[in-house]
Amino acid sequence: MLTAGYRDAAADERADLCIVNTCTVTAEGDAKSRQLVRRLARDNPAARIVVMGCYATRAPDEVASLPGVTEVVTDKRELPDWLTRAGVSQVPSGISTFAGRQRAFVKVQDGCLLNCSFCIIPQVRPGLASRPAAEIVAEVARLVANGYHEVVLTGIHLGHYGVDMNRGREKSAWLRLSHLLERLVELPGEFRIRLSSIEATEVTRELVEVMAAHPRRIAPHVHLALQSGSDAVLQRMRRRGGAQRYLDRCRLVQRALDLPAITTDIIVGFPGETEAEFAETLALAREVGFAKIHAFTYSPRRGTDAARLSDQVPAAIKAARYERLVELDRELQQAFQRRLLGRELNLLVETPVPARSGWMQGTACRSVSVRVAGGAELRRQLVRVAAVEMDATGLVGELCRPEACEPGKTARASGL
Ligand code: SF4
Repeated sequence: MLTAGYRDAAADERADLCIVNTCTVTAEGDAKSRQLVRRLARDNPAARIVVMGCYATRAPDEVASLPGVTEVVTDKRELPDWLTRAGVSQVPSGISTFAGRQRAFVKVQDGCLLNCSFCIIPQVRPGLASRPAAEIVAEVARLVANGYHEVVLTGIHLGHYGVDMNRGREKSAWLRLSHLLERLVELPGEFRIRLSSIEATEVTRELVEVMAAHPRRIAPHVHLALQSGSDAVLQRMRRRGGAQRYLDRCRLVQRALDLPAITTDIIVGFPGETEAEFAETLALAREVGFAKIHAFTYSPRRGTDAARLSDQVPAAIKAARYERLVELDRELQQAFQRRLLGRELNLLVETPVPARSGWMQGTACRSVSVRVAGGAELRRQLVRVAAVEMDATGLVGELCRPEACEPGKTARASGL
């Protein structure tokens, strides 16, 4: 948009054009999207408001009736057309900056073919569409050149990257996520790649091998949504692969990478979930040793099969199970962080520590929060730190002396 004569509106300035990218994964996502549109309409009464994204696709009439909305883009493929009509002569093929963010996010794939019974996404993003590798490589190169030291690869179903392009091709000619990573790690510059959420069943040997071969370039972190550790619940959820297969893939990652962070999403209180089934989830979480669990209480999503199931779990039971899972998460996080003490970590410094002058904080390669003494000059930098202490908010690190920062050494072995 900048090339078409638009610029970002200042905080106290009224915008001429607002583009809202919405989410519909939960009813709360819909509500937040509506709130945002209403606030933008109130604060920018003369603006054209364009709404796109999954909520716009799922409920275009509802979105069109919101105040100030001039256009609803229900299919992203229409966006270039719309931008042309809005006066953008050269429609950009990707992103170059993320205002106010230290990390860049590159969407490599869209759409999901699966049919989890609790999820609305396949109804709004049914077709798989992978971006050409050359386009992604160029976008990442541009972001690195613009000073981003961490690029997160995202997609609705990241593990299915390439599946649509591979149809009808010999297996030897397939392009998968592992191949894309092989191309990205070759780019020059000081940066690392992180994968966003991926299904455990899509953690292939090839993927793990490329991650293991490039420990500095690819963060040793995988986010594998578990949802439940009970085979019976997983079946009702229509998830692929059972609990044992999930555990096997975690073990594959743990054997191949040096102390990787495995993080996950878990839903508690899915319809019909018994105490014994919930206990299986806790046991599996403990067995994997997650670095972080994102716990969610099941809430029926209108339009999904799970919302029609009759044996919904009472709210009080869901709340109690949620608390138990959060408690386990605390315990496992601390156990994981304790294992990192004494190690060297690759840290992306992001923001000042609130109310503690002279300290900055960021995210380490293994997805933990680390604080380090230093000022604004460290912001956005990728630095090596030794993890020397831990507390309830994460790890405390000490900056490594450059000569001590050899790959594979622990901080103590490096004399730090
Ligand atoms: S894999 Fe399941 S949860 Fe994930 S987007 Fe597809 S249907 Fe939804």
